[in-house]
Amino acid sequence: TNYKPSPKRYDEMKYRRCGQSGIKLPLVSLGLWHNFGSNDSYDNARGMVQTAFDLGITHFDLANNYGPIPGSAEENFGKILRQDFNSHRDEMIISTKAGYHMWNGPYGDGGSKKYLVASLEQSLKRLNLDYVDIFYHHRPDDDTPVEESMQALDLLVRQGKVLYVGLSNYKPTEAKLAIDVLHELGTPCLIHQPNYSMLDRWIEDELIAMMDKEGVGIITFSPLQKGLLTDRYLKGIPEDSRMASDSIFLNRDELTKSLQIKLNALDEIANGRGQTLAQMALAWNLRNPRITSVLVGASRKSQIEDSARAIENLEFTVQELEIIDDILL
Ligand code: NDP
Repeated sequence: TNYKPSPKRYDEMKYRRCGQSGIKLPLVSLGLWHNFGSNDSYDNARGMVQTAFDLGITHFDLANNYGPIPGSAEENFGKILRQDFNSHRDEMIISTKAGYHMWNGPYGDGGSKKYLVASLEQSLKRLNLDYVDIFYHHRPDDDTPVEESMQALDLLVRQGKVLYVGLSNYKPTEAKLAIDVLHELGTPCLIHQPNYSMLDRWIEDELIAMMDKEGVGIITFSPLQKGLLTDRYLKGIPEDSRMASDSIFLNRDELTKSLQIKLNALDEIANGRGQTLAQMALAWNLRNPRITSVLVGASRKSQIEDSARAIENLEFTVQELEIIDDILL
C-alpha cells in the first residue's frame, strides 16, 4: 500500500520556536517509547507515524533503548521512513538519545564519550540515516565529568551526524553546568526534555525559568502521566492499556481510589471546556509559552488524532486554573 501524505498536513498544527534557536517544533510531538517495538504490531506503528505526519506532527522522538527489544523502535522507524517517507526526510525532526543501559560491559551505559559516540553510530545504522536532528544525553551521569559527555555531543555535531543537542532528566543545577560547557564548546544546547504533567509539576520550581533565561527550549515527556490523565482509567483498568500490560513503567497500584476521584473531577472540567481529559492535560502543559512542545505517546491512531486537537483550546481562565489546582491538591 502506497502512503501519500495529506496535502493539508500543515493547515491546523501550530509550531513554537525552540528556545532561541531557528527550529520550530509542533506543539504536539510523537514519542516512540511504547508500542513501536518488535513485540508490537508493525502495521499499527506505521499507521500511527502516518497519522501523526498527516496532522502536521513533524517531530518524532526515539532513544537507543526503545523497544522492547531495545533498539527495535529505531529499526521499525527506519523501516517506516524507507517505506513511506523517502521524499519527506527534510520535513521531519528526528531525535534519539543515549544514557540508559544499552549493551553489556562498561561502555554501554552512562555518559562517557565512548558510550555516546558508539551508541549514536548504532542508532544511525538502525534508523538508516546519515544524521539525526537532535541527539540527547538521556540522563545525567555522576560517574562522568559533564565536560566529557558534552564534548561527545559537540564532536557528533562537528562530524555532521547530529544537528542539535539536548539534555534530558537533568536537574536545574546539572543542566546549567552542561549548558555552560556546551556554550564554551560552541554548540548551544537546543532543548531540555523533562517530565511534566498536572500530576508532577517539579519543573515549575526552577527549571522552566532557567531554560527561558538560557534560551533553551523545553519538550515535556509523559504529559499525560503515561496515560493516567486521559479517559482510559476513569472507570477502571482497561485490558488493552499500558497499566494492564507487561510494561513495568505503569503499575496497577498507581491507580488509587483518591487519584481516580481526581481524574474524574478533571474530566468534568475538560468536558466543560469542550475537551477530552487528554486534550486538557496537554493544553494545560502548553498554557505556558515556554513549553515548546508536549511529547505524547500513543497505542493507536485515534489517540494521536485526539491529542493533536488539544491545540484548539489552549486558553484557561484564572478560575479554571484555580479549580484544577484545588483538584490536584
Ligand atoms: P504520555 O503521558 O503521553 O502517555 C501515553 C499513553 O497515554 C498512551 O500510550 C496511551 O495509553 C494514552 N493516551 C495517549 N493519548 C491518548 C488520548 N488522546 N486519549 C486517551 N489515552 C491516550 O507519554 P509516554 O509516557 O508514552 O511518553 C511519551 C514520550 O515521551 C515517549 O514516547 C518518549 O518519547 C518520551 N519519554 C522520554 C523519557 C526520557 O527519559 N527522556 C521518559 C519517558 C518518555 P495506552 O497505551 O494505555 O493506550
